[in-house]
Amino acid sequence: KYQSLAYQRVLEINNQHLYPPRTAYFAEPLLLHQGHMEWLFDHEGNRYLDFFSGIVTVGVGHCHPKVNAVAQKQLGRLWHTSPIFFNLPIHEYAEKLSALLPEPLKVIFFTNSGSEANDLAMLMARAHSTNIDIISFRGAYHGGSPYILGLTNVGYFKMELPGAAGCESTMCPDVFRGPWGGSHCRDSPVQTIRKCSCAPDCCQAKDQYIEQFKDTLSTAVAKSIAGFFVEPIQGVSGIVQYPKGFLKEAFKLVRERGGVCISDEVQTGFGRLGSHYWGFQTHDIVPDIVTLAKGIGNGFPMGAVVTTPEIAKSLAKRRFCFSTFGGNPLACAIGSAVLEVIKEENLQENSQEVGTYMLLELAKLRDEFEIVGDVRGKGLMIGIEMVKDKMSRQPLPPEEVSQIHEDCKHMGLLVGKSGIFSQTFRIAPPMCITKPEVDFAVEVFRSALIQHMERKAK
Ligand code: PMP
Repeated sequence: KYQSLAYQRVLEINNQHLYPPRTAYFAEPLLLHQGHMEWLFDHEGNRYLDFFSGIVTVGVGHCHPKVNAVAQKQLGRLWHTSPIFFNLPIHEYAEKLSALLPEPLKVIFFTNSGSEANDLAMLMARAHSTNIDIISFRGAYHGGSPYILGLTNVGYFKMELPGAAGCESTMCPDVFRGPWGGSHCRDSPVQTIRKCSCAPDCCQAKDQYIEQFKDTLSTAVAKSIAGFFVEPIQGVSGIVQYPKGFLKEAFKLVRERGGVCISDEVQTGFGRLGSHYWGFQTHDIVPDIVTLAKGIGNGFPMGAVVTTPEIAKSLAKRRFCFSTFGGNPLACAIGSAVLEVIKEENLQENSQEVGTYMLLELAKLRDEFEIVGDVRGKGLMIGIEMVKDKMSRQPLPPEEVSQIHEDCKHMGLLVGKSGIFSQTFRIAPPMCITKPEVDFAVEVFRSALIQHMERKAK
């Protein structure tokens, strides 16, 4: 009884005092009490397998013992300095993080979030190129601050208020939903068993998308651009992948016009994609600026921008970069522990092995159910796009998607949902998950889909 009274009170506080009210996700919002690795527990002690890890953030697991121990030790030693002092955890972390990035990406600016990192990257691109226009894909999510919101192109995050100047969007070369379709072009194991109705051969589609991209570049206001922001795989808009080779060509075109290329690794970094540590490596490219957040701190608020010495200098000579909290000793100690755990526990390798296994198991659902339009992704970043039917690819109505999502929750599985039509389930669990847990999740999905079909048949 006490528990349910507490729950009601929490609901009231939520609706009266919190913005945005945290209720949209489930009909009955979850009141979480505790987390351990890939598991979450609610206020009544119910256990859930967390397949969304706090929106692709808790990469090494909730309350990981080693990360917790390091945080506690640092809490007892020194929480905070400020950029005016040296401190070993900061300098050690900077060395470790930069060693994971290829030349010439060696200079780090610490921030407190992904939006802040992307804001700074935008400023750097403009300071370095001395141009104004910045391009991002439709469907991109790069942050929610007023400045970076100009590059976030997901409808429900856009405001009917003046946005940041000099931001342009261009067509996303979405291999599933884009005008030229064709999921065959990514080197994903799913394609080997794919039975889909889609479209022309991938290489052709890549060229068509590149023509579109050139068209946007040629209409940029100044005819020369400051930069191009890209997520190696789009997260918020539903795990959207691009044709193989597209980004390589796009980067070349941007650089020819004086712009710098920014890879937003907020969701794709730190081994989540399995085959590589960073998302840009899966496209065989090296960006000029990389932005990091989410998984960098396993849930601790931190972010970073990593760039070349030249770009760093271009900004430094115009503006002294200062953040009171960015890269404080506590954040850096946690960041170091996260890097160590990824290495010691072979979490990148686990993402590759268990992620590929999951992709193949989920692909069976696509072949079993007409409403599962596409299963895609890489490593432990997977999307399941729901459609009315495979041929039309019209999105399954959001209320039906929400019901399936809710049914999964009732069976003990938490997944994300998003997509530009709210039609895609997002799966990005902590990287420590196991194959038996994947088997459980796939069975939950199968049951939820069967329940859905039964409801529709009535
Ligand atoms: N970039 C990407 C790719 C993201 O997914 C997000 C958050 N969803 C951000 C940037 C913004 O990060 P934050 O919420 O930490 O500001």
